[in-house]
Amino acid sequence: MCGIVGYIGFEDVKEIILNGLEKLEYRGYDSAGLAMINEAGVHIFKDKGRIANLRKIVDDTVVATLGIGHTRWATHGVPNRINSHPHQSSSKRFTLVHNGVIENEDILRKKYLNDVKLESDTDTEVIVQLIQKFVENGETVDLAIRHTMSELHGSYALAILDKEDDNTIYAAKNKSPLLVGVGEGFNMIGSDAM
Ligand code: GLU
Repeated sequence: MCGIVGYIGFEDVKEIILNGLEKLEYRGYDSAGLAMINEAGVHIFKDKGRIANLRKIVDDTVVATLGIGHTRWATHGVPNRINSHPHQSSSKRFTLVHNGVIENEDILRKKYLNDVKLESDTDTEVIVQLIQKFVENGETVDLAIRHTMSELHGSYALAILDKEDDNTIYAAKNKSPLLVGVGEGFNMIGSDAM
C-alpha cells in the first residue's frame, strides 16, 4: 500500500508532510522520503526505515512552503536509500514520488531511455526520466506528463515537482488512490482523507 502527501501554501511544509506521512503509516511501508522546493532549489531527504528516522535526517534549517512526501512499499528494487522516493530525472529538473507498479517499465526503458543512466532499480525512475525526455523533445511540462501517462501500463499515484516552477505540484493517478484537498490559502494531495 504505502502513501503520498503533498502540500502547497504559506506554512513551512516539513511538519505538515511528516505528520501526514505518520497518518498514513497504517498502510505499511519500508522507506520514507520528502522533497521541498524553495528559492535555493530542490531539497531531498530519504532513506529506508521509519518516519521517525526521516525526521532525524530532515534538515531543520530548510524552510519551504511546497513539498511532497512518500512512504514506499518496495516492488522493484530492495529497500535502500537509492531506491527510496523521491526520484529525480538526470538533469535534476523533475522530482517525483509514486505509489503503484509500472508493468511495462522494461519496454519503456528500451524504447526511450537507452541513452539515460538510471540510478535506481525502481520502475518509478522510468516515469520521471520519461517526463524529462519528452520535455527535452520540445513538449510542455503538462503535455510531457500526459504523454508519459499514456505510455504507462499499471497502477500509479504520482506527485511531481518541476525545479523551474516553485508554485506547482503536478498530480496524476490511475488505480492507486490520490485525493486533492482544496483549502483556504493552501492545497493538499494525499493517499487518503486522513
Ligand atoms: N513500485 C515502486 C517502487 O518499488 C513504488 C512502490 C510503492 O507503491 O511504494 O518503488
